[in-house]
Amino acid sequence: MNMDRKFNNNHKESSSEEDESPHEDEIAWIPWYCNLKGNEFFATVEEDYIQDDFNLTGLSSTVPNYESALGIILDSDPEETLSEDQQESLERSADILYGLIHARYILTSKGLAHMNEKFKNAEFGRCPRVFCQNQPVLPVGLADMQGVDTVKVYCPRCNDIFNPKYRRHSHIDGAYFGTTFPHLLLITYPELAPPKPHQTYVPKIYGFKIHKSARERTLQHQQKVRGHKQ
Ligand SMILES: [Zn+2]
Repeated sequence: MNMDRKFNNNHKESSSEEDESPHEDEIAWIPWYCNLKGNEFFATVEEDYIQDDFNLTGLSSTVPNYESALGIILDSDPEETLSEDQQESLERSADILYGLIHARYILTSKGLAHMNEKFKNAEFGRCPRVFCQNQPVLPVGLADMQGVDTVKVYCPRCNDIFNPKYRRHSHIDGAYFGTTFPHLLLITYPELAPPKPHQTYVPKIYGFKIHKSARERTLQHQQKVRGHKQ
């Protein structure tokens, strides 16, 4: 994880062509962060949204090094030189802060529109269930508090949740997407809701459906056999 980050930091310093920030030699933190491998689920939160204090209410007390972390996200130059350890813990705070801001942003109309585009491009993956026929999925959290569980994906066709397909997405905190997001998206854009699957899988043995009592009968038979042996 840290190795990746360092590699990407080097990349950040050398990517002089993609200057979307006021610093000519660096890409702005938000698009850089969202472009990192493993961060594909994240929408790029607009800086205007982050600069409005109202949108950040309550976060200063939940994220360590809040002010400096916010500085990192908004590309303001740090006032002091930091040790490698300090820099690392600050970056961790920036990850958390961005994630928590992101969870709020994707519930706004702009955020929903942005995530809708990603959903249409199946950027969150597809349902692994055969009868869901490659239905695109949406990220969802099982909790709105950071540090509880990792992100899952929700399939609107079978109405179930799954682990993300790629391991690089399995460490992302579920709170960065939250419990509300996919359901609010599907209510906001009702045309996105797919029809429910009409096929269900039927287990068969030599072409015959398995009778409900089959397992029980086998167990009873096994008990009888064991009884005889004793
Ligand atoms: Zn499904």
